[in-house]
Amino acid sequence: MPLTILDHPLASDLLAVLRNKETEPPEFRQIAERLGYLLVAEALSDMSTVDVEIETPLETTRGKQLRRPVVAVAVLRAGLGLLQSVLTLVPDAAIGFAGVQRNEETAEPIEYYNKFPELSSARVLILEPMLATGGSLSWAIDKVKENGAQDITAVCVVTAPEGLARIESDHPDVRIVAAASDRELNPNFYIAPGLGDMGDRLFGTL
Ligand code: URA
Repeated sequence: MPLTILDHPLASDLLAVLRNKETEPPEFRQIAERLGYLLVAEALSDMSTVDVEIETPLETTRGKQLRRPVVAVAVLRAGLGLLQSVLTLVPDAAIGFAGVQRNEETAEPIEYYNKFPELSSARVLILEPMLATGGSLSWAIDKVKENGAQDITAVCVVTAPEGLARIESDHPDVRIVAAASDRELNPNFYIAPGLGDMGDRLFGTL
């Protein structure tokens, strides 16, 4: 499983704000979006391009465009926090949704909604900010593969060792891009040190 942890002072700076428990939802959403730009840019950094001819005001030159479409699949709810970053960087990206809730006792995923665009020819970015047990991400990867996805990158903010191990075992072909690799899962399946419940922090729920 290829794993990239962003090594960029700007990413560290933004993540520090997200981790701070005093950061309120309006700022949290903005900072998550800004960190998302760095994560998404990295997740697309190995995409192949095609040469195109361009007329500048001065002369004809050659440029490059993405060869294949980009699809983002937001794992609800927390994945919504990275969605605008994809749409700003790749405005014609198609968007899918994977609705999964975790059983608070077992941390296993309970599926409640799925909707995907055409996936087979696209780079599929699965937006799963908190890779905790890996149960939800592994389930979402199963679903996009069942719907034809072949080129999948998971975009995470924070990962736990348990989640990385689960994806390595279930889906070794999937690349993971993240801002941090944290110490552990606590007994309540929260990532430590982490940043708390990402959905709650984005949307002000309790
Ligand atoms: N989901 C979250 O939002 N936070 C965690 O720490 C683990 C799972």
